[in-house]
Amino acid sequence: MPNDPYIWIDRALDAIHRANWYRSPQAISAPGAVVEIQGQRLLNFASNDYLGLAGDRRLVEAAVAATRTYGTGTTGSRLITGHRPLHRELERAIADLKQTEDALVFSSGYLANLGTIAALVGKRDLILGDRYNHSSLKNGAILSGATAIDYPHAELPALRELLSQHRDQYRRCLLVTDSIFSMDGDLAPLPALLDLADEFSCMLLVDEAHATGVLGATGAGAIEACGGRERPSIQMGTLSKALGSLGGYVAGSRQAIDFLRNRAPTWIYTTGLSPADTAAAIAAIAIVRDEPERRARLWQNVASLKQGLERAGIEGVLPSDSPIICIQMRDAATVLEAGRLLKKAGILVAAVRPPTVPTSRLRLTVMASHTPEQCAALVDRLKGLKERGLG
Ligand SMILES: *Cc1c(COP(=O)(O)O)cnc(C)c1O
Repeated sequence: MPNDPYIWIDRALDAIHRANWYRSPQAISAPGAVVEIQGQRLLNFASNDYLGLAGDRRLVEAAVAATRTYGTGTTGSRLITGHRPLHRELERAIADLKQTEDALVFSSGYLANLGTIAALVGKRDLILGDRYNHSSLKNGAILSGATAIDYPHAELPALRELLSQHRDQYRRCLLVTDSIFSMDGDLAPLPALLDLADEFSCMLLVDEAHATGVLGATGAGAIEACGGRERPSIQMGTLSKALGSLGGYVAGSRQAIDFLRNRAPTWIYTTGLSPADTAAAIAAIAIVRDEPERRARLWQNVASLKQGLERAGIEGVLPSDSPIICIQMRDAATVLEAGRLLKKAGILVAAVRPPTVPTSRLRLTVMASHTPEQCAALVDRLKGLKERGLG
């Protein structure tokens, strides 16, 4: 073909390869602290299964039982034929965990963010979001048609300046932030963000994807942990990380949730969450409530890994308030090589590169189900890397 309209895809792929940005999925066995990839057993420090629930027998049983009762698919959107009693049960359980008036379950966290932002703001409105926010928040802003401005990561003076400069020219304003930043592991300054929202009459959307089940005395998340439950905000999160299932949620006032049920396009026009995922999430929330010792074990592991890294003199460890611990490295090629060597040594970690993040890093995630010995083994292998001059 003289003018192949698809040829640009080959060139784009070539460019991705040249930059060491190329990625492809690898098949992993069942979830757990130890996983298998192509017959190799690996210590798993790469999953978001913080409480080790994704393979928990009780979640599996709940999913199987729900499938037997309700079938595999929900056959339609929630407003037509896709609503099951299980969905409401899950929404009540989430609202109870979060101590909000109500909650709404979406088919993924990504869809929850897209639909919520698109419903809350439009062309006449302003969104101010942290530069390191998750992709779903950024794309939600684009979908909404609102004017979206990023502020430098967690920099409150810069955000205040933007608010003073722009707030007046818009009808509504939505502040948007991850609570735990997914690729950095640090925590947003939530009390100050709540204050700014108050002062400038803005809504605040907090993404608790990595904090749900992890932070707070009852595992409700960072809003609970910072004492912000009594203050107005809209919280979203996912069922697919610490809760070991699939799906997303938004929690907030009765009115906000009622409004989303009528206006969030990614809830109205998509098929309801499967009975299996819904039932697994209900079982997970019960475990979060009834077994706080899992959360305690998770944080013990986080502390011991951090201590180990410090004692071993590992450099480039980014500030972290969560089970996500990142080690910054020179460039994409270095972090890829480090990931490859660790895998050879039996350890699975994520090598995260642009365009996902501005700078390349190893991303380690700790689970409640890791043993102290497994954490020590990770530190040991990282020390080995350092001795080979990687970092
Ligand atoms: C994973 C993640 C999401 C998306 O959740 P899914 O349920 O996986 O679609 C949204 N926000 C943040 C910060 C995340 O890390």
